[in-house]
Amino acid sequence: MTNPKVENVVIIGSGPAGYTAAIYAGRANLKPIVFEGFQAGGLPGGQLMTTTEVENFPGFPKGITGPELMDLMKAQAERWGAELYTEDVIEVDLKQRPFTVRSTEREFKTHSLIIATGATARRLGLANEHQFWSRGISACAICDGATPIFHGAELAVVGGGDSAAEEAIYLTKYGSKVNLLVRSDKMRASKAMQDRVLSNPKIHVHWNTEPVDVFGNGHMEGVRIRNNKTGEESELHVKGLFYAIGHTPNTSLFKGQIELDEVGYIVTKPGSPETSVEGVFAAGDVQDHEYRQAITAAGSGCMAAMLAERWLSAHG
Ligand code: FAD
Repeated sequence: MTNPKVENVVIIGSGPAGYTAAIYAGRANLKPIVFEGFQAGGLPGGQLMTTTEVENFPGFPKGITGPELMDLMKAQAERWGAELYTEDVIEVDLKQRPFTVRSTEREFKTHSLIIATGATARRLGLANEHQFWSRGISACAICDGATPIFHGAELAVVGGGDSAAEEAIYLTKYGSKVNLLVRSDKMRASKAMQDRVLSNPKIHVHWNTEPVDVFGNGHMEGVRIRNNKTGEESELHVKGLFYAIGHTPNTSLFKGQIELDEVGYIVTKPGSPETSVEGVFAAGDVQDHEYRQAITAAGSGCMAAMLAERWLSAHG
C-alpha cells in the first residue's frame, strides 16, 4: 500500500481473537495497530480476565489462570511488533476507504479492519454476585463444570433457552443433581432439548422461579430463590450457579455500517471471518453465538489476520 499514513490493519479488541490476529498480522509484517479496549465491552484482555483457572486451552496441561494466559498472548503480540493502545474505539467509518477508526485519544486510517470486540455474558445483578463470581457463579458450564468442587455436588442453572438446557444436561456429568431455574412456566428451548431436560432424572426444573441472591463463606454455598407466582422464597444449597441467560455482542459501534443479525452478532460468511464489507473481518465471540470458547476465538483471529493479509496483497 502506498500511502504511509494509512495503516495496513487495525484490530479492535484484545481477547484471544484480537491478540491472535495481532500475532499473525505482526508476523506477516503488517505492523498491526490494536485497540485493547478500556471500558467499552469489557477489559483489556477480554472475558478471560474475569476468570480464575482455564483448564481447556491446549498447551497448559496443569491449567493457567485467565489473566496469565492473556498476559502471555499480549507479550507474544508485542514481540511481533503489534502497537497496542489501551483505549476504547468510539467511532468507525466503514463507508469510505480507507476506513477510519477513532478512539478516545487518536484516529487512524486503515486499509483493513479486524473486529474482535467479543460479547458480554449477561449477569443477573444479584447483591452478592460480585463476591461469588468465579467462586461458585459461572457464565460457562463447558469451561467450569469439571472443576473438582462441583463433582458430586448439587448445582443450579438459570435460564430457559437452548443454552440453559444444554448446560443443565452437560452438568449432570458432574453434579449429583442439577436444579434448572426457569423464570416462566415454560421453556424457550427447542422441543427436543426440553424433552431431554424433562426426561433426565438428575435435572429438577423449578418453574416460575428466579434467584434472589447467593450466599456462602468464601465459596458460594447456596442460592435464595423466589417463586414469582406465589412470592414464596426458599434456599437451594448448591455449590455452583451457572448463568445461561444470554450474551450481548459488543457491536453497537458498527450498527448501520455492517450486517448484524437480529440479536446484534456480526454476520460472517459460513466458515470464514469475512463480513458484509470487503476488507473488514470479524473474529471471536462477536460473530459466534455457538462455541464461545477461547480456542475458537483464537482460531478465528488467526483466520481473520490471514485473510486480511491476502486481501491487502490482492488490493495493494
Ligand atoms: P473477548 O474475550 O470478549 O474480548 C473482547 C475484547 O474487545 C476485550 O478486550 C474488550 O476490551 C474489547 N472491546 C470491546 N469493545 C471495544 C471497543 N469499543 N474498543 C476497543 N476494544 C473493545 N473459554 C474457554 O475456552 N475456557 C474457559 O475456561 C473459559 N472460561 C470463561 C470464564 C468466564 C467467566 C467467561 C465470561 C468466559 C469464559 N470463556 C472460557 C469464554 C472465553 O472467555 C471467550 O470465548 C473468549 O474470551 C472470546 O474471545 P474474544 O477475543 O472473541 O472476545
